[in-house]
Amino acid sequence: MTDKAFHWADETARKIVREKGEKDVYTCASGITPSGTVHIGNFREIISVDLVARALRDAGKNVRFIYSWDDYDVFRKVPANMPKQDELEKYLRFPITMVPDPWGRDSSYARHNEIDVESSLPLVGINPEYLYQTERYRASLYAPGIRTALEKRPELKSILNKFRDDQHKIEGEWWPVSVFCDECNRDDTDIDSWDGEWHLEYHCNLCGFRQKTDLRTAKGVKLGWRIDWPMRWAYEKVDFEPAGKDHHSQGGSFDTSKIVCKEVFNFDAPVTFRYDFIGLKGNAGKMSSSKGNVIDLPTLLKVYTPELVRYMFAGTRPNTEFTISFDLDVIKIYEDYDRTERIAWKIEAAKNEEVYRKERRIYELSQVSGMPAAASYQMPFRHLCNLLQIAGGDIDATIAGLSDIKPEQKAALRARCVCAKNWIEEYAPEDFCFKLREAGETAALSEAEKTAVRELRDSVVSKIEEFDSDKSCAQAIYDAAERAGIDSKALFRAAYDALIGKDQGPRLASFLRAIGKDRLLSILSVY
Ligand SMILES: [Zn+2]
Repeated sequence: MTDKAFHWADETARKIVREKGEKDVYTCASGITPSGTVHIGNFREIISVDLVARALRDAGKNVRFIYSWDDYDVFRKVPANMPKQDELEKYLRFPITMVPDPWGRDSSYARHNEIDVESSLPLVGINPEYLYQTERYRASLYAPGIRTALEKRPELKSILNKFRDDQHKIEGEWWPVSVFCDECNRDDTDIDSWDGEWHLEYHCNLCGFRQKTDLRTAKGVKLGWRIDWPMRWAYEKVDFEPAGKDHHSQGGSFDTSKIVCKEVFNFDAPVTFRYDFIGLKGNAGKMSSSKGNVIDLPTLLKVYTPELVRYMFAGTRPNTEFTISFDLDVIKIYEDYDRTERIAWKIEAAKNEEVYRKERRIYELSQVSGMPAAASYQMPFRHLCNLLQIAGGDIDATIAGLSDIKPEQKAALRARCVCAKNWIEEYAPEDFCFKLREAGETAALSEAEKTAVRELRDSVVSKIEEFDSDKSCAQAIYDAAERAGIDSKALFRAAYDALIGKDQGPRLASFLRAIGKDRLLSILSVY
């Protein structure tokens, strides 16, 4: 590792090594309860861990990146964006893993949400090792941890009570476990006794079922949150795990779990940081899966290429709230990435060496699988959108029209074209979108406007390939307006009407040059 870290992921990697010491393998963890759509706010945690794992690997360390699916958690609430609400209601208090998939695609509701994530993460270069907590609990892997928690009930109770106000102190008999009833699968059960070793007796408040169960074979016994989390840190020997600000509040579950981890499970809690929420442009506030409006990774990937998705997160410190835009800001985010790329490849000079190294590092971390062989074909996103619309959405034709693109640059540009096309079709503001008129279509222009369009056609369009810049072309357009005796604004309006049936459009000089002479002449020949 270089002496100076230029990126927050490298800073965190150094901190992990400093605090945890030299190790053969560093375990980095992330996880979630798949109780609903895993949205882009949850994705921030996953990619934060991926970035730190990459920083550790780049420093020559071995890394195990585990992603825990907490699918043995209880199904508490039906999210508003799920189909078959009534059907799902019937499974409240079941473990999520036993709730059927309302879409009928996968083996369970949990599995459906898991597969949506597992199938999209590799697209952005993230490949963790998935741990399924249902399997692990049912295989009794955690029986010793559960027994430890039962043995240390008084200590646990006093730790938890430190974080509770007077009205919410745990009093009287208390158990650190919950049990899913072996008969009806719900967790509305009470513990009756524990024999001090492996046997636990419980009864179900719903169906009346009673059972004496053995922790070493029991399937339904589970630790409560704030005990389960640190038990698993100790079990997996986790060195790093970030958490959202809901868990990282003062006295929140991270603080509690940290003490439980040390005092009950005799393990030092992982290095951590707090990551902030993600906002959506035009939809402020925290995104929550229990509300209907959720943006997930596949939705983001419709508009942003994988590199751009990684870039947004790699380029922002985790404790900074930021907004993901689907409006015109999309253009700026692509421009920012392109600039970072130019600096990384020294096509554009950075302000100083420090800026260069920082931008270069952000660029490296934005790549899906290592540094590409060369910079990508630099085409501003706005211009690409215009070219695509000129080509009527035909991506092949758009790429074929670029004479200077190298074969090895085509795949990346094609991916960007797909995103640009999706953005135009689904998210771009109405006045950004256009369609060229077909040859033979006529705009309802006044005589003066027709004269102006003819002048534009005969003095500018007919020699459009002779202009070596938009600037010289723009000057010729102003000259044409003057010769036609019309205000230049009126000429612009007439030209846009003649070309796209609107009174405004992309900057005219660049637009005309992009459309090309033959196409322009065929559209303007009717005047
Ligand atoms: Zn029951």
